[in-house]
Amino acid sequence: LVERMQGFGETIFAEMSALAVRTGAINLGQGFPDEDGPAGVLDAAVEAIRSGGNQYPPGPGLPELREAVAAQRLDRYGLEYDPAIEVFVTVGATEGVAASVLALAGPGDEVIVFEPYYDSYAAVIALAGAVRRPVTLRPVEGRFTFDPDALRAAVGPRTRAILVNSPHNPAGTVFTRDELEAIAGVCREHDLIAITDEVYEYLTFDEAGHIPLATLDGMRERTVSVSSAGKSFSVTGWKTGWVTAPAPHVRAVQTVKQFLTYAVSAPYQRAAAYALRNEIPWVEELRKSLQGKRDRLITGLEAAGFTTYRPQGTYFVQADIRPLGFTDGMELARALPEKAGVVAIPTQVFYDHADAGAHFVRFAFCKKDEVIDEAVERLARLR
Ligand code: PMP
Ligand code: GLN
Repeated sequence: LVERMQGFGETIFAEMSALAVRTGAINLGQGFPDEDGPAGVLDAAVEAIRSGGNQYPPGPGLPELREAVAAQRLDRYGLEYDPAIEVFVTVGATEGVAASVLALAGPGDEVIVFEPYYDSYAAVIALAGAVRRPVTLRPVEGRFTFDPDALRAAVGPRTRAILVNSPHNPAGTVFTRDELEAIAGVCREHDLIAITDEVYEYLTFDEAGHIPLATLDGMRERTVSVSSAGKSFSVTGWKTGWVTAPAPHVRAVQTVKQFLTYAVSAPYQRAAAYALRNEIPWVEELRKSLQGKRDRLITGLEAAGFTTYRPQGTYFVQADIRPLGFTDGMELARALPEKAGVVAIPTQVFYDHADAGAHFVRFAFCKKDEVIDEAVERLARLR
């Protein structure tokens, strides 16, 4: 393995899902729903296969999906993108983020990330030969946020881009307009590109709503936005995503993407286009249901003795393990199947400053109510 990838090993999701399979524990680790997406979307994929949509699609994606993405950004956020030159399709958001980083940051360049960060960010920044500069999210009044001064201090002469994930995995934070303004201010002042990972754009709770960074003043022209169908339509295995950005950025990112995978599975593109056009009401129901599941899991975790942070979005709750007498989340996560028959993700793996996250584990609530109930019942035996 090349030097720049030393230390990346197996992803924590693979390790913890394998542990769940091996032990038969309830998997509240890797974030994937245990119920299928809308029937119409599943049918659209089957229909696409049956009707002969099985050869290479155009590299930038099927026009019907690019048009559906442009229509979605316009209807929901008032953002205008030309589907012909400002939208393209990627193998999930993961490839969208990877191709963006590889296209926009080179050896020695710096990319700012908010830690705890989604694990693929660190790996693709390393693949690019670039350097990550973490800004730490910390709990303030029950919610993970950052210090704007720390963000400003993270910018240096080699900073090229800021990677922004909101709603944020694993902290559960949905950035407010003020937080986004702080980020936008830094981007404008230092002429930085923002790469936004918006895969949980629909999955926000209570009063929180997703605000794309590109909607802020002066940001559309410098933001590469990434999203995907996986979370919105409960089809995480479909790995169908998209990038929207100004045409020159799209050309740059597309240059990289075409040599990573060339194109994206054609049938899933047809189905994702159908989903964006027809299934937003279904997503609204999913959002409501997930909000209830969040509260259900939090109630159970608190009863079991954890201190929890109520997320404003995503699939995940951060839980502080110290009230139960534990201090190391990695140690606990590895022992949890045996101790309690449950799998969780140790949050420290998403930090450079591992001590800031050593005492958190992440639990997923995108599961059937009875699965959540059984998991918290088991966790209650930890005391
Ligand atoms: N970004 C974040 C923040 C995620 O949580 C995930 C995983 N669900 C992804 C990207 C990956 O998305 P996709 O499966 O579309 O590649
Ligand atoms: N996004 C999912 C999570 O955070 C995992 C996806 C993966 O396995 N890479 O749980």
